[in-house]
Amino acid sequence: MKLGQRLLAMVEGELARLPRGERTRLVAWQEMRTRVALGDLMSLLAIIASAKVALVLTGLWPAGLPAWIHSLALVVLLLGRFGYARSRGLGSEGVAATLFTLGLITILADPPPHWWIEQPGLTLGWVWLLAALVIPLLARLASVMVFCGLLLAAAALFFALVPSGGRESLSILLYLLVSIAGGLLLRKLRSDMSLVFRRSTEAVAQAANTDALTGVANRRGWREQAPPMLAQVASSNRPISLLFIDLDHFKRLNDLHGHAAGDDALRRVGQLLAARIDVGLAARLGGEEFVCLLPGLDENAATLFAHSLRDALAQGPDPLSFSGGVAQWRHGEDLTDLLGRGDAAMYRAKQAGRDRVMPAN
Ligand code: GH3
Ligand code: MG
Ligand code: MG
Repeated sequence: MKLGQRLLAMVEGELARLPRGERTRLVAWQEMRTRVALGDLMSLLAIIASAKVALVLTGLWPAGLPAWIHSLALVVLLLGRFGYARSRGLGSEGVAATLFTLGLITILADPPPHWWIEQPGLTLGWVWLLAALVIPLLARLASVMVFCGLLLAAAALFFALVPSGGRESLSILLYLLVSIAGGLLLRKLRSDMSLVFRRSTEAVAQAANTDALTGVANRRGWREQAPPMLAQVASSNRPISLLFIDLDHFKRLNDLHGHAAGDDALRRVGQLLAARIDVGLAARLGGEEFVCLLPGLDENAATLFAHSLRDALAQGPDPLSFSGGVAQWRHGEDLTDLLGRGDAAMYRAKQAGRDRVMPAN
């Protein structure tokens, strides 16, 4: 990996390793959050600046600049703040942020008389800290890196050409670089935070779609995942089949061996389905009813698959049997119709004496 890429990966943290689409979504979400946080920060600073201008206007604050400049600066600052709230896109955002910063610098730095003789750079320098801090949060990382590089090159040139450039210029440069480094840290923190947030919402969504007892999808998960799977396979002209399963005499198993034994049996079915289905989808629609979507399998292959499940469940100390219905998807059919045909076939398997698999009409 090139040095630049390594640096990017380090600063962006895990974000850099995400697939591109997901990264774009995450970055958009982060930008929205940053916008809100930055807006709040601007409001806070606007309140502080307004308080100071009020003190200057009432003569309680011995200001360096005349009062009318303070008032003008406050108007510019407020224009920047409201402009930021209404701005769309980097261009208008940049103009608003610049207006705001200009007003803020003028009010807060308020250079004392003869400031240009004493250390003008240092007087103003600290104000740039804030502006430099937010650059990495607003701009793209590559642009920040280029900006830092140019800054260093300009500084090197300056010190080469003006040997007596002095401590002051060096201090300003240090202010800027330290602030940008601080901004980069904030950026890293933000990317980590959003990853944690994203992972936790994904975990919640996953739990909401999963049946807690058997580990396969629940009805909600089925409704969410089955339609896109069906649409995708259908559009690729491959066969896809549905298998409807209802365990036989399950009430009797509960009654004879207890509810816990019934739960164990359901878990066993869930584990078997999860182990045997890799590209398809298995779900527990409720009670002792399961449904499987089997991409790539036509009616014959799906029936063979159902028989292999039947054989596996019949083995062991607690044999189980089910009645199954197999329906291969037909052109133009939606998931509800496919499920209905699978259910009807399962019902016919029950009526024919259970422990068998029937094809749908
Ligand atoms: P059939 O062969 O006709 O399908 O008979 P069945 O007894 O399997 O069907 P029925 O619909 O009459 O009974 C289903 C039973 O499944 C009733 C209910 O107590 C039981 N059941 C539903 N959910 C659970 C569960 O989460 N755990 C356990 N242990 N039993 C459950
Ligand atoms: Mg049932
Ligand atoms: Mg049953």
